[in-house]
Amino acid sequence: MSDHKQNFIGGTWVAGEATPNINPSNTADIIGHYARADAAQARDAIDAAKAAFPAWSRSAPLERHGILRRASDEILARKDELGQLLSREEGKTLAEGIGETVRAAQIFDFFAGETLRLAGETVPSVRPGVGVEVTREAVGVVGVITPWNFPIAIPAWKLAPALCYGNTVVFKPAELVPGCAWALVDILQRAGLPEGVLNLVMGQGSVVGQVIVQSVDVDALTFTGSQPTGAALALESAKLMRKSQMEMGGKNPFIVLADADLDVAVDCVTQGAYFSTGQRCTASSRIIVEDAIHDKFVAALSERINALSVGDALDPATQIGPVVDASQLAQNEDYIQIGQAEGARLLTGGERLSRATEGFFQRPALFTDCTNDMRIAREEIFGPVAAVIRVADYDAALEVANDTHFGLSAGIATTSLKFATHFKRNAEAGMVMVNLPTAGVDFHVPFGGRKASSFGPREQGRYAAEFYTTVKTAYTLA
Ligand code: NAD
Repeated sequence: MSDHKQNFIGGTWVAGEATPNINPSNTADIIGHYARADAAQARDAIDAAKAAFPAWSRSAPLERHGILRRASDEILARKDELGQLLSREEGKTLAEGIGETVRAAQIFDFFAGETLRLAGETVPSVRPGVGVEVTREAVGVVGVITPWNFPIAIPAWKLAPALCYGNTVVFKPAELVPGCAWALVDILQRAGLPEGVLNLVMGQGSVVGQVIVQSVDVDALTFTGSQPTGAALALESAKLMRKSQMEMGGKNPFIVLADADLDVAVDCVTQGAYFSTGQRCTASSRIIVEDAIHDKFVAALSERINALSVGDALDPATQIGPVVDASQLAQNEDYIQIGQAEGARLLTGGERLSRATEGFFQRPALFTDCTNDMRIAREEIFGPVAAVIRVADYDAALEVANDTHFGLSAGIATTSLKFATHFKRNAEAGMVMVNLPTAGVDFHVPFGGRKASSFGPREQGRYAAEFYTTVKTAYTLA
């Protein structure tokens, strides 16, 4: 196979075992073949990044600005094509795929600007005649390991700040979505990155990922993915005393109070729980509903869910695309059975759907009569499945919302300023939403969670500097 998309190591495209990239809306559609890197290539990529670091970390901010700007411009100019590639390989709808692509462009735009805003502090010393400067420097070689569910936005929000602050990168995308990763690296290298600054090694976590994680030459590790993997990689990183950042799963609560605007509440839950096929770390999977509005809300929500059109991601009429692959679909189906066995009531959905093409289609599922100790209310399912928990009042709702080992996003629908304010202050989550879905965030402000959802400094916006730079304090006798 000679026409496959290759890995990018030390400024050169390098062949590897060609692996098909399959469309989850139509398994007969092979998007392309992508080279799977081996362990030796992953080591070459780390060596190349290490060799490129001294010059790149001292490059002029304007050089980095120009590269990030050009990348942003090209992504935006190609948003329809890249959005289509994204939807074809991951399965989110075309509107979602294009929206995510635009967001990637905005992230590069933001960090292009940040290259010109690097600044430090000059502080008076406590000692006479001494000057103190506090500055930020690049960390070194950054290992970037990403999941499949945001194939262009998550790589963008890691690569853009890494490059902005003068780090070099070894990037390993998820096995299921090499297409967007390859396109992004192609854009960045043509935008003018010197050789070795950004290296792409597509392939398996257990092979390529492990070489990155275990290398003493990787100075910082940024990971987004599942909680068990993130926890294991954080431990491996700690053994090397290496800076690390893990963004992991969620079991995000959304509270519906009796005083909520019903349309707003139904809208928030429909979007938060089911859009992007529920495959978002910020998806609302526990819907905590006050008794007085429970039946009315559940009736309106199930009517809305049943009207959602599930189908081929590229069909403009589709609102919910396919599940990403066969194993995720099987896992979702297992949880449908687990929920029923635990005594929850499957009000609607959950079944596999057949469409004109062979794909992984599943009807969005809603459980009612759930308790917060059920597995469907505690474990991240990562599919279009939500569990409704009935509670007596706001206090009970808050207690249930916080009773989880995750802490990424939490939302509430209410028209009460008192409850909204109390919830913002007391929700144990990194991100809190009032009358907005738990999923759907801005690109210029911090992103991340608490408890088992996140480890290390926040991502995105100016807070990204915390991870991608290291602070130096310099003293001078004047
Ligand atoms: P995953 O943990 O299976 O894989 C994530 C990445 O880690 C992949 O690139 C994979 O190849 C790599 N990997 C796996 N095992 C590895 C190992 N032993 N060593 C090194 N690398 C390894 O996650 P996924 O299924 O791709 O993504 C879904 C998960 O991501 C969900 O749990 C979701 O909640 C989470 N997620 C979190 C956020 C966030 O910001 N909090 C955002 C998106 C997705």
